[in-house]
Amino acid sequence: MSKVNPFEMAQQQLLDCAKILNLEESVVELLMQPQRQIQVSIPVKMDNGTTRVFQGFRVQYNNALGPYKGGIRYHPEETIDTVRALAAWMTWKASVLGLPLGGGKGGIICNPKEMSKGELERLSRGYIRAIWKNLGPDTDVPAPDVYTDGQIMAWMMDEYSTIQGKNQFGLLTGKPLLVGGSLGRSDATAKGGMYTLREAAKELNIDLSKATIAILGFGNAGTFAATLAEEMFGSKIVAVTDSKGGVYDANGLDIAALAEHKKNTRSVIKYKGLDVLTNDDVLALPVDIIVAAAPDEGAINAKVAETIKAKIICELANGPTTPGGDEILAKNGVHVIPDFLCNAGGVTVSYYEMVQNMYMHYWTLDDVYAKLDKAMTKSYHEVLAASKEFRINMRQAAYVVAVKRVVEAMKIRGWV
Ligand code: GLU
Repeated sequence: MSKVNPFEMAQQQLLDCAKILNLEESVVELLMQPQRQIQVSIPVKMDNGTTRVFQGFRVQYNNALGPYKGGIRYHPEETIDTVRALAAWMTWKASVLGLPLGGGKGGIICNPKEMSKGELERLSRGYIRAIWKNLGPDTDVPAPDVYTDGQIMAWMMDEYSTIQGKNQFGLLTGKPLLVGGSLGRSDATAKGGMYTLREAAKELNIDLSKATIAILGFGNAGTFAATLAEEMFGSKIVAVTDSKGGVYDANGLDIAALAEHKKNTRSVIKYKGLDVLTNDDVLALPVDIIVAAAPDEGAINAKVAETIKAKIICELANGPTTPGGDEILAKNGVHVIPDFLCNAGGVTVSYYEMVQNMYMHYWTLDDVYAKLDKAMTKSYHEVLAASKEFRINMRQAAYVVAVKRVVEAMKIRGWV
């Protein structure tokens, strides 16, 4: 884990954008902090008869455009600053896609790998009992994130429905299909990222069928991205990392076999006896594209950025690049598809899930993918156009598009 404060990074990015847009001081002041932060203590009866108290957060960053929206993370090293940063990025993410949603994020300090299913269920239900008054289908709509999944969403939805005395499928998204989930939600983040990569490659005249790709992070999004890049474009995945290290084979890795190896040994390292590389080694490899999908905020700092040879960085994770890293990448002409644009496929299909819950009418997988493709492609080109118009990099351009909409909504509502 890199030692950067993600919220300071998010604030610095926003200040940079405020300068470009020449925003008034009161507007900047309002956007620099969350509208509301909730911290709760959650007592949980453990299987061994003791009670443990967990700390949980929900940060509601901005709801000018619609209900707060964003995932809940279960993480042993969760901090309020990480949740704040992610809540800010959710605000820009929903806005850059033109969704009628605001931004929020939640987290609980816990290690789900060391908890039984029963303990996790009691923790998830306890979290909802602690914060339910601040949630609701038109108030704040959570979703899965790091170490949370459809089962956890189902328990939370059920707890809220019990409190309300009626089924409330619309409380959160990323649910299992039988209880109001949407087709296409599970690989939506990776799929959305691949649509933006396809557009970026067209812009840069890169033939993806001949391209080599390094994937940083072989979790949910990274694994789907590797498979999709092969399937959709015929690209060659030559390197993959996880938290224990990385492997590289210039002739290409067999992604299905590597996923099986990871399932059996809990890591990609030692696959076929390949050398174990560090994250930084992998970032410096001679590849065309880097897909940054590891939850390692600030991993691409100025020093690392200088070593990067790839032409495109696809930021599937939140916050992989520091502001210093951005400067170097821009100087070296690396095309960055910034995180809150690149990984917005998840929240976009979450929005489709909300719509389907409201209408009680469910779409086909083809419908979901066709709509997602259209939405991601349109947003990518809006950001690209802003980057050309203002002569700024893609992250600054994504901020310009997203922040402008939020500020306009705040003005129309009479907040500033
Ligand atoms: N956790 C995902 C994200 O960070 C999805 C959020 C959502 O679907 O609300 O984008």
